Formats: sequence, structure tokens, C-alpha cells
Amino acid sequence: MVTLEELVVFCKIRGFVYSSSSIYGGLKGFFDFGPLGVELKNNLKKFWWKEIVLMRDDVFGMDCSNVINKDALFFSGHQNGFQDTFIDCKDCKCRFRDDELKDNICPKCGSSNFSEPRSFKLMMNVNVGPVEGEFACLRPETAQSMFINFKNIMDSFSPKLPFGIAQIGKAYRNEVTPKNFIFRSREFEQMEMEFFVEPQDSERFFFEWKETRMNSWKKIGLEGIFRDQAPDELAHYSKATSDIMFKFPHGYDEVEGIANRGDFDLGSHTKAQSSFDIKAKVIANNKSTEKLCYNKDGANIIPNIIEVSAGLDRAFLAVLYNSYYKDEKRTVLKLPHCLSPIKAAVCSLVKNNDEMVNFAKNIFCSLKNKDILPVVFEFGSNIGKIYKKHDEIGTPFCITVDHDSLLGDKKDTVTVRYRDTTEQVRIHIADIVNFLKENL
Ligand code: ATP
Repeated sequence: MVTLEELVVFCKIRGFVYSSSSIYGGLKGFFDFGPLGVELKNNLKKFWWKEIVLMRDDVFGMDCSNVINKDALFFSGHQNGFQDTFIDCKDCKCRFRDDELKDNICPKCGSSNFSEPRSFKLMMNVNVGPVEGEFACLRPETAQSMFINFKNIMDSFSPKLPFGIAQIGKAYRNEVTPKNFIFRSREFEQMEMEFFVEPQDSERFFFEWKETRMNSWKKIGLEGIFRDQAPDELAHYSKATSDIMFKFPHGYDEVEGIANRGDFDLGSHTKAQSSFDIKAKVIANNKSTEKLCYNKDGANIIPNIIEVSAGLDRAFLAVLYNSYYKDEKRTVLKLPHCLSPIKAAVCSLVKNNDEMVNFAKNIFCSLKNKDILPVVFEFGSNIGKIYKKHDEIGTPFCITVDHDSLLGDKKDTVTVRYRDTTEQVRIHIADIVNFLKENL
């Protein structure tokens, strides 16, 4: 299997991911996605959005601000609770989160000579407006803005329970030890959905969402395993959490958490808390201006929440790792076609034949006009090299115009080469669009 170091080099050379601010030495925990990376990321988002929002009738999509009022993060518990404890190894000077240390032994050098544990706030402050010291926070998760918008969605759409609110967006955490490339970074994207249910239904929906999410990843070739969190691992708000883990170069690790959050979130952010029977332990809230409740048969109840929360960057890495094949002949990124950054390459076999180049260019333009995107045009003297590059970046099909395309009994036909098998078939130019629409 490919190593993490090989994947990092591959991502840089082929234009998927670069380290951020690289010409100034980089910035630890931050990354820039290149032309192919942004397409792959967008395709993952499109896939998730379709599964969670577009194909369902009970989930509302949103796109909320990245900067969030500090009060929201105070009542959510982040302001005081969202911190990690870190420890330095005095011998090799490496830094670890305390939960990374097993048996008090440094994983790097084997020493037990540690500094005192120190805690560290994970949230990033930003100064908002012209007055120094007017702080707000970059959100550490997309979830809070969806809880806070519960009443807006109720007022605009009057949905019945159960229903969800979903969002894809950036989150920021001042991770102590960003590592494993984009697996643990300080700026990342989350794909989260908060599903509001009647309290007595929460367990049933928790198990349903676990299955739904695991099956959804399978559609893009990711076979995961569940890891149910033990009671002493659970976050303070959680009644149950199960992580979906995929294979990475460093082993199986979490890409998505499914959590039964009970009534903690709406209970924390609602006004008039004492008028409800809130089961979770919440901070007394004297700042919220709205009741976040649902009227059921004349009684106001606080819905429970099942959260599904996936990391886009981790899914990106899992997909790359699981699609990367290398043998003595070639490297192939066997991405599911829906995720491939480029859908097809139209190639002219030689570049010094205007008729052939124009013929290929016409096909290229017609594919664009038929919405087969992104598609690229290639002409060069070495078709083998072009195929090799497209195998590596996961382009499912190369369509090649050659001398036979221009005259003789094969006039107006092209070869279509399959990425995964290298098999080539000859088809008429009138059939290319349909072929691609059926096979992409
Ligand atoms: P971890 O235990 O790995 O720190 P977490 O349980 O704190 O993750 P959540 O708060 O549940 O993570 O966030 C939901 C998802 O967001 C995670 O499953 C993960 O995919 C993603 N995520 C969280 N932190 C990071 C990060 N620092 N870099 C990249 N993705 C992240």
C-alpha cells in the first residue's frame, strides 16, 4: 500500500494539495487545495449533499457564517470546555495530546521524562470591527449555527418532526498536534447534519442514521468499521456516539461521528429554560432571545438531536488512499467516476497535423457544450505519457483521435480507453456523449 509520504508527494506533484503559504515555509496545519484537489473536494461535497439534502424531503440545507458570536460558544460549553491537554517530552522535545500517550511512554523516543500537562484552548479568536478587543470566534464546528437557526427554519417552513438541518463548511481548531497530512489540520471542512426528533424516538433514529451513513460511504467505495465510544469517552452532551472509521496509512481512524445528543443543544441555547423539562446538564442561559422548542399536541417540547458529522478532508484522504494502485507498469487512481476530478481527456494522437488537432478540438468543445465537465484537451507526441498521467489522476476515459478517424472505413470514429483495464474500444463520434453519460 502507498505510504503517507508518497501520498503527500503525489498530491503536490499532481496538483491536489499543497501546504499553505509554502514559499514562506508553510503554516503548520493549513493546506491549499490545487486544481484537481478542489474538483475532488467539490465532487465529495456534491455526493454528500445529494445523499443528505437533495434525495430526502426532510432535510433543509444551510450555509452559515464562519465567525460566530462568543455567547453561542459559551452556552454550547465550548468556551470553557473545548480544550486539549498537552505534554512535552523533555528528551526529544516532541509535543503530544495527553490522550496520545500510552503507558506514559514517549512514542518517538521511549522516554518517560515529561513536562507537567498544560491545557490549551482549541478555539481561534478573531477581532471583529474597528475596535481592538471586540472578539468573536472562528467556529470550531458547523453544528452550533444549525442549532441556533432551529427557530428560523421552524418559522420559515413549519416542518414536522423529525427533520434535519445540514451544512457543509469550514471549521477551525487550534489543534495541538496537527498531523497525518490533511487528517488533522487547523482549518478543515465539515459535512454535518442535525436531525431533530421527538425524545422517545432518539435511540431508533440514532441506529437508523448509523446504518444510513455507513451504507452511503459504500456507494463511493469506502468500506468502514464502527467504533462505539465507551461511556467514559463520551462528550459531555452525548448519550451515545459511534464513529465510522476508514483505513488510512496510519491505520483505521475516524471520518464521521454519529451522536445522540439528547436535548443538550436546543436546551442550552433556548431562553426560558426552566419552563421546559430539560434532561441534559446545561448552563443557565440569560442571553438567548428565543425559545427553541416544538409544539406537540399543545405542549412545548425540546426536540432531541441525532448528529451526523463527517470531515471532508478526512474523507478526501480516505478516498485517495483507497483508490491508489501501483504495480510495476503504472500508477492508477481508481476513483469512483463521480469523484474523478477530470471526467475525460480528448487527445489528438499527433500534434503536427492540423486536421487531426481540429477534429479532436471539435469533440472537446462538443463535450463541454453537453455539460460533460471537466474535460481536458491533450495533444502531444507521446500518447503513452498522456495515458499515464490520466491514469494517475483518475481520469476514467481518454478519447483519442488518430489517422483512422480522418479517412477510410473507420472515418469519424475514435478510440475510447478505459482507465481501469486499459482496454480500448472504437466508437463513432456521434456516440461519444451517450457513451460518457452512461458510463460516468
Ligand atoms: P478527533 O477525535 O479525531 O479529534 P473529534 O471527535 O473531535 O475528532 P468531531 O468534533 O466529532 O471530531 O468532528 C466531526 C468530524 O470533523 C470528525 O469526525 C472529523 O472527520 C472532522 N475533524 C475534526 N477535527 C478535525 C481536524 N483537526 N482536522 C480534520 N478534520 C477534523
